[in-house]
Amino acid sequence: MDLSYIINELGEDREQYFNAIAPPIMQTSNFAFDTVEAMRGLLLDEYSGFLYSRGNNPTIDILRQKLAALDGAEDALVFSSGAAAIFAAVLSQVRQDDHVVCVREPYGWARRLFDELLPRFGVETTFVDGTDVAHFEAAIRPSTTLIYLESPNSLTFDLQDIAAVANLARNRGITTILDNSYCSPLFQQPYLMGIDLCLQSATKFIGGHSDTVAGVLTGSREKIRKIFVSEFLNIGSGIAPFNAWLLLRGLRTLELRLQRSADSTAKIAAWLKAHPRVEKIFYPFDPGFPQYELAKRQMKGAAGLVTIQLKADTREQVERFCNGLEHFLMAVSWGGHESLAYPACASVPAADFDPTEPRHRMVRLYIGLEDADYLTRDLEQALAGMY
Ligand code: PLP
Repeated sequence: MDLSYIINELGEDREQYFNAIAPPIMQTSNFAFDTVEAMRGLLLDEYSGFLYSRGNNPTIDILRQKLAALDGAEDALVFSSGAAAIFAAVLSQVRQDDHVVCVREPYGWARRLFDELLPRFGVETTFVDGTDVAHFEAAIRPSTTLIYLESPNSLTFDLQDIAAVANLARNRGITTILDNSYCSPLFQQPYLMGIDLCLQSATKFIGGHSDTVAGVLTGSREKIRKIFVSEFLNIGSGIAPFNAWLLLRGLRTLELRLQRSADSTAKIAAWLKAHPRVEKIFYPFDPGFPQYELAKRQMKGAAGLVTIQLKADTREQVERFCNGLEHFLMAVSWGGHESLAYPACASVPAADFDPTEPRHRMVRLYIGLEDADYLTRDLEQALAGMY
């Protein structure tokens, strides 16, 4: 399906709403029926129509169709956050006494789910260094039902060989879930590599304007239907119609935004790599990146994040760099119009800062839609002000 068709036309039946170009926000909690028979039909099969907006809603339905098509999947569910998508997806694949194999450093709240919540229900997780498929193989047990991947992650961009892990899992009857937030479906197509369920924080590139928290989960119609009637309806964390509308608006410019951000990031990453106050950069399309070949093979593009490891002897120097940025905003998250800096040491108590710990000197930069030279000048003056 053409990207232009998906973004501009798919799911949009304009005759239903006065030929308006922008779809309406169907701000309703429920839907009325003319007959008991019609109502019974939906109560017995809520997946197939509009009964109550915790399940289906026409505005959200347009978004679902587009997000599924972008992934090359049959169906999608849209959640009020990426964390909710993770929760529902994982919960749908485990039962008491099951075992999960997960990459060592998934998104923080995914890690907490495996570390803290699931053990309460007898589900154990083994975390592996995902850069080698042999580590997954070694961790699999007879009780393993799920392999959870995030490729690349969003700080050091460690990748998994997605096709190899998916193949391993399929041969053992294990389900795979992949967090594709960093690449978005435009830069990585996990289903072509054999993944079973794919999710993203739609807060990032899909929304694209730092005004909506949302998540998406895609998969086969069979899998999504099962999750819809169970975890999705039961957790009740579907997206609201207005937020779905914001995501529809975000989607219109997804390709342009992603490309602009990716182009600027490549330029800025190369500049940072040569800077004397930068010890190291992490950027998957940098030829010096340890998994560069794999990144080039399985990703169509590297998105707008680059992490720098500063040459610094003290916490004050790292903080002076971050505090000195004038145009980069200091914040978590990424994927919006605005450039951001996230110092890894902000999640460590100040007294625990250790300059010999490379991670404490890492600052993740998200390159937004501003002019690359404008951003480079800001980085230059902040680096100059470090010491
Ligand atoms: N996955 C990744 C890689 C993320 O970075 C995030 C959020 O930062 C999430 C999932 C969770 O998404 P949300 O914040 O929309 O709940």
